[in-house]
Amino acid sequence: MTRTEEGFERLAPPRRGEWRSLFHEPAQTFEDYVAGAPNRPGATRKAFVLQPLGDVAGPILDRMVDYAAAFFGLEARRDPARPLFEKAYVGTRGQYNSSMILGDLAERAPADAVVYLGVAGVDLFARGKKFVFGESSLEGRAGVFSLARLEGSERRALKLLTHEAGHLLSLAHCVTHRCVMQGSNGLEESDRHPLHLCPEDLRKLEWACGVVRRERYRKLEAFYRALGWDEDAHWIAART
Ligand SMILES: [Zn+2]
Ligand SMILES: [Zn+2]
Repeated sequence: MTRTEEGFERLAPPRRGEWRSLFHEPAQTFEDYVAGAPNRPGATRKAFVLQPLGDVAGPILDRMVDYAAAFFGLEARRDPARPLFEKAYVGTRGQYNSSMILGDLAERAPADAVVYLGVAGVDLFARGKKFVFGESSLEGRAGVFSLARLEGSERRALKLLTHEAGHLLSLAHCVTHRCVMQGSNGLEESDRHPLHLCPEDLRKLEWACGVVRRERYRKLEAFYRALGWDEDAHWIAART
């Protein structure tokens, strides 16, 4: 194990039913990432903008903004809530089509947003899937995720937030390490995923957003401590 790999775990082959057993996605190396002209902050587009959709309220939204700022090293804010895109509602399913919401958001993205991420409280689906936790474009800067299936867990909400925002910064699913960018078929699977980025994805983030590892880890450690997430704080502290 190299020094930079310390504390990180490589993935074993997937169990039956896990995301990687169903979707055979290639690994995205750092070199692939850089060569792919990823979406990253620039002179005008540099803000992380959380967009509440419909009736999502509460301190969780502020927490999300603080977490995004620490995690991605971006200036972050939340914009005033917008109504849900009603054309995306499919009555026979009782769900909203995430791809349509995403399309609507892409048209409305603020000029200064490098990440424009909608958060909804309603159940979402995408073509061919019974439900989705979220959907984000790897090329564009708009995405959406839902709290509907997270059973009120703040940890799950924050994990999903960074996963989707990671996609908006052009990070693909991680297939090599235990990592927040791993794909997931359901709560049982995503609950096994960690909050952190693996070394390869961390390198991408540092390159894309110009974050300094030590500084970022300090902020995250403080964030986790404030929430009483001592195990996460501990893991971070051991990396700095
Ligand atoms: Zn994903
Ligand atoms: Zn990873």
